[in-house]
Amino acid sequence: MAPTTVATSQFPFLDLKAQYATIRAEITAAVTRVLESQHFILGPEVAALEEELKPTTGCRYVYGCASGSDALLLALMALGIKPGDEVIAPPFTFVATIGAIERLGARTVFVDIDPGTFNVCPKLVAKAITGKTKAVIPVHLFGLSADLAPIMEAAGKYEVPVIEDAAQAIGARYKEKPVGSIGAIGCYSFFPSKNLGGAGDGGIVSTNDPAIADALKVLRTHGSKTKYRYELLGINSRLDALQAAILRVKAKYLDAWTEGRRRNADRYRELFKKYGLERKVNPPTEPAGSRHVYNQFTIRVERREALRAHLQQDGIPTEIYYPYPLHLQPAFAYLRYREGSLPHAETAAREVLSFPNYPELTEDQQQVIVSAVARFFSHVSVGAEKEK
Ligand SMILES: *Cc1c(COP(=O)(O)O)cnc(C)c1O
Repeated sequence: MAPTTVATSQFPFLDLKAQYATIRAEITAAVTRVLESQHFILGPEVAALEEELKPTTGCRYVYGCASGSDALLLALMALGIKPGDEVIAPPFTFVATIGAIERLGARTVFVDIDPGTFNVCPKLVAKAITGKTKAVIPVHLFGLSADLAPIMEAAGKYEVPVIEDAAQAIGARYKEKPVGSIGAIGCYSFFPSKNLGGAGDGGIVSTNDPAIADALKVLRTHGSKTKYRYELLGINSRLDALQAAILRVKAKYLDAWTEGRRRNADRYRELFKKYGLERKVNPPTEPAGSRHVYNQFTIRVERREALRAHLQQDGIPTEIYYPYPLHLQPAFAYLRYREGSLPHAETAAREVLSFPNYPELTEDQQQVIVSAVARFFSHVSVGAEKEK
């Protein structure tokens, strides 16, 4: 018997090389400029990037830092979050959201998600806020803004600041406003797979509050405002000039690239509809007034593992973001959550499947992907018939 072979992928899950090919000369020029200057930490390139990203973030103050994870950490530090403080956050997110809270000794209070959007449920946030709550961190998962208005309202009643984890959502809007400008602080990541990705780690924090801005700026450079004077206990979390120079090139294309992701998302939806698969795959939707930037195009299906294996046989790559909710991770066992305590997050972790979606993905590739999904479901229903 021939060994089962898994086809090598027809195309990658994320094709960063295709994007690089379109801007190679500009990137080379930017890197050379920095090397010639021999100025590598912060400096004019970082200041220029910060300035250029102000309209995108909708914020008057933008500061480069070492990563999206550090952006979250700096945000919590700037708000004075200390051991024992309660911070509300969803369990269905990348680990960094919770890691930032826990490493400060603060205590995460997990709030379940809305199964329709994968984002934290505003009604449950309102229920969970108490006098002990010192911050709320909604995450704009996969590029769609969390439902911020009711979250801001509930947090406002207790004067609790909201930190937006916009790592996956640069350029996204909520009720026509850029994400990251609605809460007290916005946190963004330039991890290479994010919509604005660097050539390594990087991030920014943004705010419209001058006092918070002061704290953020000082905290990222060891807590010092003037050389060798330390106002606060800070960290070393700065953006490199090389990253900034590369990101400045890419930031010019962000809007066009985002439109490409949005066009692909529309196409996926049309194709799923054409094949009558909508109710089987539950494609993501865009609430009125929101601009979804589709860092991921994530569907949900009950028979996820079988579908994923079927697609893999056809050389179609998919990913699972995220296979385990954070309240059930060994690292956070001390928080004492149990299976069943946050059911929507747990179900999402079992059902989500992300499809390739980047600006350079072609209509033909999407056609190949969706027809493979259609074949899977036709086999499934034939199989079900036979069992009768
Ligand atoms: C990527 C990501 C982060 C962390 O960003 P890094 O730059 O990788 O440190 C935080 N939160 C979410 C939701 C993310 O997707």
